[in-house]
Parts: sequence; structure tokens; C-alpha cells
Amino acid sequence: MTFSVHGLAVARGIAIGRAVLVASSRVDVAHYFIEAAQVESELQRLTRAREAVIAELQHLHDNLPKESPPELAAILEVHLMLLQDTMLADGVSYWVKDRLYNAEWALTSQLDVVARQFDEMDDPYLRERKGDLEQVVERTLRHMKGVAHVIPQVIHKRQGQSRQQDLQLDDEMDVPLVLVAHDLSPADMLQFKQSVFAGFVTDVGGKTSHTAIVARSLDIPAVVGARTASQLVRQDDWIIIDGDAGVVIVNPSPIILAEYGFKQRQAELERERLSRLRHTPAITLDGQRVDLLANIEMPEDSPIALGVGAVGVGLFRSEFLFMGREGALPDEEEQYQAYKRAVEGMQGLPVTIRTVDIGADKPLDRAVKDDAHLNPALGLRAIRWSLADPAMFLTQLRAILRAAAHGQVHLLIPMLAHAREIKQTLALLDKARKQLDVRGMVFGPLKVGAMIEVPAAALSVKMFLQYFDFLSIGTNDLIQYTLAIDRADESVAHLYDPLHPAVLRLVADVIAECRAQGKGVSVCGEMAGDPALTRLLLGLGLRSFSMHPTQILAVKQEIIRADAARLEVWAQDVLASDEPAELVNV
Ligand code: PEP
Ligand code: MG
Repeated sequence: MTFSVHGLAVARGIAIGRAVLVASSRVDVAHYFIEAAQVESELQRLTRAREAVIAELQHLHDNLPKESPPELAAILEVHLMLLQDTMLADGVSYWVKDRLYNAEWALTSQLDVVARQFDEMDDPYLRERKGDLEQVVERTLRHMKGVAHVIPQVIHKRQGQSRQQDLQLDDEMDVPLVLVAHDLSPADMLQFKQSVFAGFVTDVGGKTSHTAIVARSLDIPAVVGARTASQLVRQDDWIIIDGDAGVVIVNPSPIILAEYGFKQRQAELERERLSRLRHTPAITLDGQRVDLLANIEMPEDSPIALGVGAVGVGLFRSEFLFMGREGALPDEEEQYQAYKRAVEGMQGLPVTIRTVDIGADKPLDRAVKDDAHLNPALGLRAIRWSLADPAMFLTQLRAILRAAAHGQVHLLIPMLAHAREIKQTLALLDKARKQLDVRGMVFGPLKVGAMIEVPAAALSVKMFLQYFDFLSIGTNDLIQYTLAIDRADESVAHLYDPLHPAVLRLVADVIAECRAQGKGVSVCGEMAGDPALTRLLLGLGLRSFSMHPTQILAVKQEIIRADAARLEVWAQDVLASDEPAELVNV
């Protein structure tokens, strides 16, 4: 049966493929394709793990102390029965033999299939056995982890597979796969770079949640905030992800498939057309030069930025080096090497490294998710987190200063609001320099900038400019805090409005003050990469935009068609309007 699920459009384009359901808790289970010749050894690995778990449970069962409650023996018997049942084993071998999934992936895929069958059972006793099944699968997975075997941690691209590949219904192995999950942390999303997946759908997340931002950087169609998608879609269902409309179509009819196949090809043609703008300078019709910079998450993103003609990195979100490491933070040398790679990768162009922005929807680790705090977005995040741990912060500052010896580096501080935070930060920067001097280590000069992300900062822009060389407006957070909308919460996503007059007023005033003082100002939030807002930002006087490399060419197209002087007059009308969207979205 065909049905559709609606969510939020976060990354453009159309993806058509088979659904792969991944439970959030199992994202770190290895997912990769095996060669046909490995099927037997993969099945043996499963059998060995299953037998080991059976032996372990049997031993536990046979050696239960006399005083243990009778239910314990009964639970172990159920677990043994589930392990020996063919329902799990037969399905698992299907995923290995027919789909060439590695053993762990096959096991979790089949768990999902069987768990749904349990969910649909009328008998509450049987329904509850799902928990037991999950436990035996977890135990088996743990066993496989313990067994010496080289497990790639990322999901590798299948040999020769590309996103652009046409749908080949006659050859199952060439069918693109799309990922459906309840939730994915930004760190999980990053693992999926270079993945087999042609698109993503998640139940939760707002348009500028960090998971959505990373999805956008992967440049594959994605829908977030699709609420119940992961419950409604089944493993292996055919789905279409319409990343432009924020719609997921499940089990489409041949007519719908054909229509979306056509749209997909149109989108590819549009991409090709835009790619011709790569070497065109970003200059408006009336001769205004605009800097188009890249937002990156990893040093390895630098070549991608260069490839689309970015004139530098406007935001290197350094926190991605800190995430998903079970709390073990990168030391100075590791950070220095990473920043140096990014700087060298940009071949002399400036790289703006933002100090770590951990907290809110970017927890250090999935296991220590910050939801223990009542309001993580208002809590200990970004510079607050850094100032709360000066040793960690000094380590990062030293690493950045050392990387500055290899090229132009700008330092960017997130989420400042108070003069005393600024003074503390700058004092620590001085201290980091002195520490390097004492050690006799080489370091380079830095321009130092602040992010304007909190309304208090936007309203104190004059004070900020006394301390900083440049400002960068983080509109994702500025909108969140101005409108009191959690950017990661899909239930209030409709109120997240970059065109709210209060937001535009803050953005306009920050740009105007920087320009009046001859200081650099850019926007590095998602607004900068939205071609629908390019004209407005130009009209507000912005000449430096930082965005994901994937958006640079579409924004450039808007710039080269724009007349900045005329837009400045029009932007004043927009600013004066109670309903700016009516003027912008015409
Ligand atoms: C922003 O808030 O606009 C920004 C660029 O920072 P982040 O999205 O990483 O919070
Ligand atoms: Mg921010």
C-alpha cells in the first residue's frame, strides 16, 4: 500500500531506494557489504556467536543458585528458545546471502523485522517477548565484537555505486539504499559520510538541528521531523525521499516512481548546470564583490570547499573532532594536526576555526546525552563549556595558535553574551600564547572574532567590536534564542522563522554597525546558504556568506544576478514590514 509521511525538508533532491531501518542505539553497529565469497565465513561467524551465547546462557541456567527466583530460570529458557528458533536465524541468513550485509547488520535488520511481528501480536505476554529478543541480539552482538575480526567502523560505499545511479529494478544489488531512523546524533551522521546511503529520514529534529545541518553537508536528500516514519516504514520497503518538499512516499506505485525518477534526473541536470559557475567570481551586477566561504566539520572537507570555489573556510565546527569518542577528548597534538590539515588543505586561503561548541543537541557522546539538563540549549554549551574547563580550552587554543603558523587562521568564539566572558576568553588566549613561548613552540598570528548568536550579543554589538577583529552571525542560534524556539524540536518548527522582523532587525543592525566601523562581518548560520534569502542579506549589506560547500553555487547564482544597490532600497521596506515574508517570498 502506498502512503506518505510528511516532515521537514532539510537537504534538497530526490532519493529513491530500499529502506534500511537503523535503531539509534545500533548506529555504531558496523554496516558494510561483504563479497559473495565471504558469505559462508560471515554465516559461520554468526553461528559461532550464537552457539557461544547459547552455551553461556545454558551454563547460567544450569548453575543458578538454589535461592534464585524461579522467574530467572524461565527467562533464561525463553532466551535460549529464541536463540534456537529459526525465525531469527533464517531471516539473518537471507540478509547475508541475498543482500550481502555483514553479520552484525544482518542480525539487527532481522531483529527489526521480528520485533515488529511481536509488536503486532494480540497476546500481551508474547508482545513483551520483544524485549527478550532484543537482549539476546545485544548479547550476540557483544560476542561478535569480542571476537577478533576487522570491522570497518563506517558504512562503506558499495564498489562502483553512485548516488546518481539510475534505479535498476532488475538487479537488487544495485538498488540504492535509504536510511530511516528515529534519531541520529550529529556524530552518527558524520559516520555516514562516504556511506552507502542515498538519502535519510529521521523521526525527530528541526530544520537547523545539527543532525539536519550535517545531513545537508552530505548533500543527499533528507527529511527530518517525520515523526512516525521509523515505525511505519518497514525494512526493505521502497521509498522516495523528496528532500525539497519534505515528503517521504512509501511503496510508491509505478506511476509515482516514474514521476520522481524524472524529477531526479531534472535535479541532476540542474546540478550540472550550476557546476559551471565554479570559476565565476561572485560579483553582483553592480560590481559588488561577495565572499563565499565554506562551513566544514572535518579537515577532510577542505578539498570539497576548494572544489566549489570557496574563498576560505568561514566556520570550521571543531566540536566534531571531540564527539563520539566516549569522553576521551583529543589532545593538543591531535587537534594541531587536524587544524593544520584544514589550513594546508585550503592552500593559503583563510580558515576560521571555531572553538568547541559542545552541548545542547551536540552531546560529546551518545551515551552521555545532555538531556539530564532541563534546558540544554540554555545550559552549559559552547564558550560556557570551554570556560568551565580552562585546561581543555587552553589545549584547544594552543593547538589553533600552532596551526596558525601554517596559514591564515581566524579564531571564532561561539555563544558569547557577557563582557566578562569575552575578557576571560581573551585572557586565556594570552595565557595559551605564553605557554607556547615558554615551551619554545612556534605559533602564528590570529584574527579573533565572536559569533553573534544570543540576542544579548546582537544588542551589545558596539561593546563586542571593542574586543574583536570581526563578527560572524550564527543565525541558527540567534533565531532559536530570539524566538524561544528549540531548533531541534520538530513540534515547534513552524515557528522557527528567519524572516521574523525581530530577527531581521538584529541581523541588520549587526551588519550595519560592523560596516560603519570597517570591521568584517559574515553570516555563517543556515540563512547564508539559503538561496531564497541571498537577495535580502545582500540588501542588508552583507558581503560575506559562509555555508556548506554544497550550497555555494546556488547562492552564487543569485549573487551574479543581483543588483546590490537596488536591493538595499528594497531591504529597508522589508525591514519596516510586519510581514517580511510577504515581500521576500514573491
Ligand atoms: C549558528 O548558530 O548559526 C551556527 C552557525 O552555529 P551552530 O549551527 O553550529 O550552532
Ligand atoms: Mg550556533
